[in-house]
Amino acid sequence: MAAQEKKEEGRQGVVVLGATGSIGVNTLSVIRLHPGRFQVIALSAHSQVARLYEQCLEFEPAYAVVADQEMAAKLQADLRRAGRRTEVLAGPEALDAVVEGEAVRTVVCGIVGAAGLLSAWAAVKAGKRVLFANKEPLVMSGHLLLAEAARSGAELLPLDSEHNAIFQCLPSSWSSLAGAGVRRILLTCSGGPFRNTPASEFAHVTPDQACAHPRWVMGRKISVDSATLMNKGLELIEACRLFQADPQQIEVVIHPQSVIHSLVEYVDGSVLAQLGNPDMRTPIAHALGFPVRIDAGVTSLDLPAIGRLEFEPPDEVRFPCLRLAREAAMAGGSAPTVLNAANEIAVAAFLGGEVAFSTIPEIIERVLSAIPVTAADSLEAIQAEDGRARHMAREWIAGRARQGVTAC
Ligand code: NAD
Ligand code: MG
Repeated sequence: MAAQEKKEEGRQGVVVLGATGSIGVNTLSVIRLHPGRFQVIALSAHSQVARLYEQCLEFEPAYAVVADQEMAAKLQADLRRAGRRTEVLAGPEALDAVVEGEAVRTVVCGIVGAAGLLSAWAAVKAGKRVLFANKEPLVMSGHLLLAEAARSGAELLPLDSEHNAIFQCLPSSWSSLAGAGVRRILLTCSGGPFRNTPASEFAHVTPDQACAHPRWVMGRKISVDSATLMNKGLELIEACRLFQADPQQIEVVIHPQSVIHSLVEYVDGSVLAQLGNPDMRTPIAHALGFPVRIDAGVTSLDLPAIGRLEFEPPDEVRFPCLRLAREAAMAGGSAPTVLNAANEIAVAAFLGGEVAFSTIPEIIERVLSAIPVTAADSLEAIQAEDGRARHMAREWIAGRARQGVTAC
């Protein structure tokens, strides 16, 4: 492998995991603006091989990683025919291998769900600068990832727009929120596509309606999470992990314009906010260039055109996922892992037409209440709890199907 991955002098070697997804495509559009600054070492995709092929033609990475050998062989042949030297690898172990490469300085974690857990761990263990969009590994194991980063020298930077905003609002040298004089964090939330929809209509919501986010264009899983407000719940836990905050220190505020990406309140009453157009290229460029500000290709914020910024409290009765996530954050241990696993299964079942939108929180609540909280003090323990919760969620969905209960 070493022969392929020769780093060019002066350029930052970058691996983009999940290159074909929404985060991956936005990352590459920022990298495209800075050919002298970044060198793409590896790109990965799960199934969209045609898009990955186009990306390989343009960015000429040393490696491309796909899900299995069959896809890899075809992509390798296509790239050879096009005269490209990219080496195509397959499977999760190949992801671990490429992030550990010597020429790699930065790893962008853009895989969706717990599928990104082990590659994120490999990047942190290898002491890289790790840009986290993939919030699920942080929710599951953020406390252990931070400890591992302290050991390996890895630098964790948030790409999630809210956490990137919080990071930007903190002093550059903060080591604890209390030490920095932070009183609380205000995590903003657009409210999703059903902000004003009565709960009585939730049983009939279709996947396409749930994925039609009013402000952000994203992958389908996070779009459904945004519609149930589980995304904000996961982000609450993500913020607790990244900033070592207590769940009570974090308040969720509905802000439909998605212009303020989050705020930090200090003990003297000052509140700092980060604003910008709702465009993921801004946090991506911030983290890619950090501490240098680089062009993201994003248009200027036009405040008179936006006119007004509104705020309201979240409705945890219509959106129980937010309450469930807060409870899991307070319970700690394995609870966030169980919450995340049950949610992934529930969302996949909803997208597959097996359960109604309104059943998503019910599945999560049943699984959470059935599985006792354990310490979750190792990656292995977390993986075991993840597997257990997935199994239980699937069983419950299958049991309902046997009883003839379908999506609507
Ligand atoms: P997406 O569905 O658009 O893309 C997911 C990527 O992961 C694709 O490249 C896909 O090939 C890859 N992938 C899927 N399953 C995989 C598997 N089993 N193994 C390896 N690779 C796999 O998702 P997205 O919207 O880009 O979101 C990615 C992550 O970033 C999520 O965790 C999401 O919560 C987070 N995030 C996304 C946004 C956004 O604007 N899209 C914003 C903040 C955070
Ligand atoms: Mg976010």
